[in-house]
Amino acid sequence: MSTHIKDYIAEAQRSGTLSGLPDRLYIDGQWRDSESKARIEAIDPGTERPFAQFAAGNAEDVEAAVTSSERAFKDVWRHVDPAQRARVLRESARLVRIHAPRLAVAETLDCGKPLSESQEDTETIAKMLDYYAGAADKLQGDTIPLGRNFVSYNQLEPVGVTAHIVPWNFPMFSMIRGVAPALAAGCTAIVKPAETTSLTALMLMDLFTEAGLPKGVCNVVTGTGIAVGEPLSGHPKVRHVTFTGSINTGRRVMRNAAQHIASVTLELGGKSPAIVLADCDLDHAVQDMLEAIYLNAGQVCSAGSRLVIERSVHAEFIAKFAARAQALTIGHGLRNPMIGAINSRQQLDKIAGMVDDARTRGIRIVTGGQRTVDPDSGVGWFFQPTVLDDVPADDRVVQEEIFGPVLAVQVVDNAEEALHAANGTDYGLAACIYTKDIQKALSLARDIDAGQVTINQYYAGGIYTPFGGNKLSGIGREKGLEALRNYCRVKNVTIRI
Ligand code: NAD
Repeated sequence: MSTHIKDYIAEAQRSGTLSGLPDRLYIDGQWRDSESKARIEAIDPGTERPFAQFAAGNAEDVEAAVTSSERAFKDVWRHVDPAQRARVLRESARLVRIHAPRLAVAETLDCGKPLSESQEDTETIAKMLDYYAGAADKLQGDTIPLGRNFVSYNQLEPVGVTAHIVPWNFPMFSMIRGVAPALAAGCTAIVKPAETTSLTALMLMDLFTEAGLPKGVCNVVTGTGIAVGEPLSGHPKVRHVTFTGSINTGRRVMRNAAQHIASVTLELGGKSPAIVLADCDLDHAVQDMLEAIYLNAGQVCSAGSRLVIERSVHAEFIAKFAARAQALTIGHGLRNPMIGAINSRQQLDKIAGMVDDARTRGIRIVTGGQRTVDPDSGVGWFFQPTVLDDVPADDRVVQEEIFGPVLAVQVVDNAEEALHAANGTDYGLAACIYTKDIQKALSLARDIDAGQVTINQYYAGGIYTPFGGNKLSGIGREKGLEALRNYCRVKNVTIRI
């Protein structure tokens, strides 16, 4: 029934786009133009060419979406049998798998990431929909022992209308990471995709609708952060805002939500350390670190962007790692290279600026360090996989998120110094420790100030383990069963008998 992925790739390579991409807002079960009729161009970062257009929403469109979401929450979704909510999510997962080839090709055109990564993201969102479908009818409360004259119980209630402000590095994935647990809990959702990657959020609405999601339960308003994100995060009827993106925008979102005492989940990126101790399996660490920093060309909030390595293995690690980094293929995502495009010219300028700046400070660039292009076409926004060696702890490229394929290396003399270096930034999202020494691994895991610590595999855990940051990396947790807490509130009922 579904077209083979090769046909979508061929269509996209031949025409530069896909036919039939959605281009309007999805509000209250209907496709509609934005109130302003303004449009935004979708640009393929691998070719620098526009390939689609979509609606630029504004505050009036947000108002319509909130009205629809509130009605759908109060009159429909919160009353729907939880087992039925689960069926809709499970059916959505099934439809995502059927339409995965088209979704993946669209995600690659919009984002720039290699097709294999888009395919993995598509399978991951299907898994998330299945996972939270399984939770929908198991959101149980508990009882409180107040003695024989009382019955006291806590019940979980959905918080209401929720907003999901999504970044451009994992558009489908970040959207469903919030929307699936919200819908499972009985909340309704309004999605504001990033302005450079809005298409797959819209495409998913057709699948939700086909799966039986009632109108208004999930609305999508595309547009800029200022025109849509601001009024959405500050809307009095929005009871929870889930935001992923930069620290400064996170602060604004939190301030907007605070006006109405709405809760927030903020996922604000990081400068996550990967600690390589001398006793580890070095070849495995080299291999794993290539993915830790170069997945999605480093545009990953939890990327292992700092290598904190013991001096005795530093030279060997860097030699092996640099050779592997130089061999990574770069190109348009549809040809499935190892490194795809940077999502926007603005982001490419930011990456190149930070690396140029490091160069002027005399930081040693072991490999990479330059903008580049798709070798087949001579265009596109690309950056070479880069290693900056032996960087001082207070340097900007150790302290600030670059959000590109740039690894900053810090050399230390022992595990204690590694811990000090690991905790030496204002971020605290993720960390990994490579070692065979269980004592060192577990004591570092205990003392590292991060929301998620993995040992001997950087991206271990997947959708099932709670994820979120400490310090400036954010507040709240997503993924796993923890995510459901964002969308449930506790009501206590106590009865004298
Ligand atoms: P951003 O934080 O401005 O954008 C993220 C989302 O917030 C987008 O949907 C955007 O439209 C929306 N937004 C922007 N302004 C808003 C506002 N005033 N109110 C509500 N929503 C608003 O991020 P960016 O400018 O696209 O990227 C800048 C930097 O942020 C990157 O270089 C990177 O360091 C970081 N970043 C981090 C992540 C992450 O996963 N943590 C994702 C994207 C970007």
